Amino acid sequence: MSETDDGNFMKQVVSVEYDTKPSPQQVAYAKDLARHRIVGQRCPECALTYVPGSGYCPICAVAIGADGHVELEARGTVTTFTVVNPVQYKGQQEKSPYVVAAILLDGAGVALGHQRLGEVEPDDVRIGMRVEVEWAEAGAANPIAHWGPNGEPDVPADQVQEHVL
Ligand SMILES: [Zn+2]
Repeated sequence: MSETDDGNFMKQVVSVEYDTKPSPQQVAYAKDLARHRIVGQRCPECALTYVPGSGYCPICAVAIGADGHVELEARGTVTTFTVVNPVQYKGQQEKSPYVVAAILLDGAGVALGHQRLGEVEPDDVRIGMRVEVEWAEAGAANPIAHWGPNGEPDVPADQVQEHVL
């Protein structure tokens, strides 16, 4: 045991390198996002719009072609969220609690998960809160800086409950 080992943490140096190969749909979604366009895919049978799309509807088991691509406004409703309290390990960039949410974009049938909220204190976030995107500066790794409240009235929670993850 090292002298800093308090029984709950131990020092360990690790390195992990991995590559992932994105699908053509993921590549197209990312290219559109870099141009500040959020493009979903609408099923030709059930009309659900997926963001991002995977090229097919998993409910109807049908392909979604280019004619099913639809651009959505960068605005939606928080359906689920969690407050992340970052552990302060060496090198941690996050210093304060922050919120990650699932957002049901207007016109989408499925919530967009793992979206960072900003411009709002974690205690003030709620299901049904209306948000819009804040785009990152050009060249950022993620074109979306965060989502923030847009001032619109909340959507009643029972209207988004079927989208809670
Ligand atoms: Zn469908």
